[in-house]
Amino acid sequence: EASLGVMGGGQLGRMFVHAAQSLGFRTVVLDPDADSPAGLVAHQHIRSDYLDVAGLTLLAQQCAAITTEFENVPAQALERLAQTRFVAPAGAAVAICQDRVAEKAHFAASAVACAPYAVIVSEADLLAVGDDLLPGILKTATLGYDGKGQVRVRSRAELAAAWSELKQVRCVLEQMLPLALEISVISARNAQGEIVQFPVQQNLHIDGILAVTQVPAPGVSAALQEQALASAARIAASMNYVGVLCVEFFILQDGRLIVNEMAPRPHNSGHYTMNACDLSQFDLQVRAMTGLPLVQPRLHSPTLMLNLLGDLWFSPAEPGVERTPAWDQVLALPGTHLHLYGKTSARPGRKMGHLNITAASAEQAESVARQAAALLGLAMDW
Ligand code: ATP
Ligand code: MG
Ligand code: MG
Repeated sequence: EASLGVMGGGQLGRMFVHAAQSLGFRTVVLDPDADSPAGLVAHQHIRSDYLDVAGLTLLAQQCAAITTEFENVPAQALERLAQTRFVAPAGAAVAICQDRVAEKAHFAASAVACAPYAVIVSEADLLAVGDDLLPGILKTATLGYDGKGQVRVRSRAELAAAWSELKQVRCVLEQMLPLALEISVISARNAQGEIVQFPVQQNLHIDGILAVTQVPAPGVSAALQEQALASAARIAASMNYVGVLCVEFFILQDGRLIVNEMAPRPHNSGHYTMNACDLSQFDLQVRAMTGLPLVQPRLHSPTLMLNLLGDLWFSPAEPGVERTPAWDQVLALPGTHLHLYGKTSARPGRKMGHLNITAASAEQAESVARQAAALLGLAMDW
């Protein structure tokens, strides 16, 4: 019985483990946390730090192939594992995705336009910034997620203050673009260079965190969808990527497509695939890393995903008391698929699960989603 390993024990690891297990693989998770969502469901949980040599050695010994679910896994750890085992995605590709400076250079090399930007490493860089980049967004080059590690700035004074606030670490300043909407594309590529892609997802963020994903993307022309799919495929191919890759794009008010960033793993905006497609993004991660056939996935139902953040576990009346949301009422609605990640406690902003809604039409999916959101007390400004 072959084993597959995953670096990181979060919800993405958990859903990967489920997909791997259904194809008959043993699963091994490496994560320091005793209660990690993936560690709780894997056959084996190696509780160690990502750079701990003993833990990495054990993982490599146990597994035929290893992947990562955690964007900030140290690239050196993947490189060490790769000395003895097949690792997908490779450390070099993950390193590009972990650093906004390397990432933007890679977009340029793939002939995909990103926002105008400048790299800020010193006071001199700050002073040399062109007026065209303001208003802008200052983002730390590494470790940002869910809108953390970035500050919006309107003037040079605000820029200087923001750089201090971000502890003067290496940053990029991006021009603030006039967005019409946001989309993402999930691709899976194998070691032979074969690639398959899911349809374009339309995403809505609230307070910097993904809130809603809709497929088919209601606001995106067929031509733009084609362009986004082709751009994502070039980005994957030009770094010889193996595994599932998510690329986020902006569509500007003037209709231009601009790449934002990418994640070297299955992505929150692809969770709808678990119920709306005949293969999920996690199924394709397993296939891509093991050399099993990559088959073009088919969307069989229009769908809408609602992210379930920890806020839902608290009522405004009793903010300190954790309670269970009204799942029984939500599950009474047609086409609802609840996915909870098994996290031991809720916190505001923490990703606790997601609700996929499938229906015979996009209108029907949206109508059920609004009913579910009302039952749960979810924000409905979409
Ligand atoms: P994620 O959780 O997706 O990894 P992140 O913290 O890495 O997010 P970004 O995706 O870079 O952050 O930015 C977060 C959001 O901020 C974007 O989804 C978009 O809504 C907005 N944003 C980012 N860059 C720009 C820009 N240059 N112009 C306008 N809006 C932007
Ligand atoms: Mg990001
Ligand atoms: Mg993002």
